[in-house]
Amino acid sequence: MAERRLGEFEIIDMFRGRGGHRHDWVQHGIGDDCAVLDLGGERSLLVTTDLMVERVHYLRDAITPWQLGWKAMAVNISDIAAMGGTPRAAFAAAALQPGVDAAFLEGLRDGMLACADRYGVDLLGGDTSRAPQDGVLCLTLLGTAPRDRVLLRSGARPGDVAFLGGPVGLSAAGLWLLTQGAEQAGRLDPAHRDRLVKAHLEPQPQVELGLWLAERGLVTSMMDVSDGVLQDLGHICRASGVGALVAGEALPVDRALVQAGAIGCCEQPWRFALSGGEDYVLLFTAPADHQDALVAGARHELGIELIPFAWIEPEPGLRLFGADGIHSARPRGWDHFG
Ligand code: ADP
Ligand code: MG
Repeated sequence: MAERRLGEFEIIDMFRGRGGHRHDWVQHGIGDDCAVLDLGGERSLLVTTDLMVERVHYLRDAITPWQLGWKAMAVNISDIAAMGGTPRAAFAAAALQPGVDAAFLEGLRDGMLACADRYGVDLLGGDTSRAPQDGVLCLTLLGTAPRDRVLLRSGARPGDVAFLGGPVGLSAAGLWLLTQGAEQAGRLDPAHRDRLVKAHLEPQPQVELGLWLAERGLVTSMMDVSDGVLQDLGHICRASGVGALVAGEALPVDRALVQAGAIGCCEQPWRFALSGGEDYVLLFTAPADHQDALVAGARHELGIELIPFAWIEPEPGLRLFGADGIHSARPRGWDHFG
């Protein structure tokens, strides 16, 4: 039999199990941003885990230990935010190179705890080991949400609009500035450069927005953008059994990203913004009738500018709306084995 290489999402499907769960406390298992467990009270328990692997997720000389600690905590908190939940507790498992120095560890701890403080999380345990070569940091986050108000990926319906909780593509541009674009970075306005690099190294999970949206009761599906907008909207569409028409060139693009495009980061900032990963903004759907109220409410109550960017349609697949018509879009984004 010919050898076949699997993509990240095929591998996850293999682990999905053979249907059914042993315990009836499982409200939702594999497939969403968190697993949801019903403990019999008014609030359900949310559980998620995310890895940071050296040379895969970070380069040791392109991130400070403090930022690494912050980011490892932040990306996990973002998955709790993606369910409309409140983050509560973290467990941190670390495999560290032999000879790792105390200053590195202090920085890592301080960054992790600064992020935990910001979002009201207690660090309650973990594990520590030596790594033969590259460092690995794996955090597990616990959160809670009212039992009947957990926002899943699977509720998008035709007639809904898809929104982003903020600008996208900034993190991917920040990564470019830290790697291939390092020589060009000096040509960028320092304020823009800082904004892009910070988006990559110190993501700010949208917990308050997730809670606000869950309280409104209008959102039909939600997740956080980690793999790229098109890919992640593709996940929502598949989970919901729908498709989407995505505003291509009409997508509002952050000025810092436009400037990064001008120095060589990308040819079409809107295209780059739709496929760059690690944005950690919320992506959600709600019926079109509520679009104006949601946009005005988030602006006035949270100071957040929501970005409506796609329309949910019955036909599966993603279509991209451009100046020259509508094209089917291959959901491009991050696949670890792609
Ligand atoms: P996210 O980007 O929100 O963290 P992922 O794309 O990493 O989500 O994972 C999608 C789903 O697959 C999640 O429910 C996650 O828990 C699950 N998952 C990922 N890897 C594995 C694995 N090795 N075994 C079991 N479940 C997994
Ligand atoms: Mg997620």
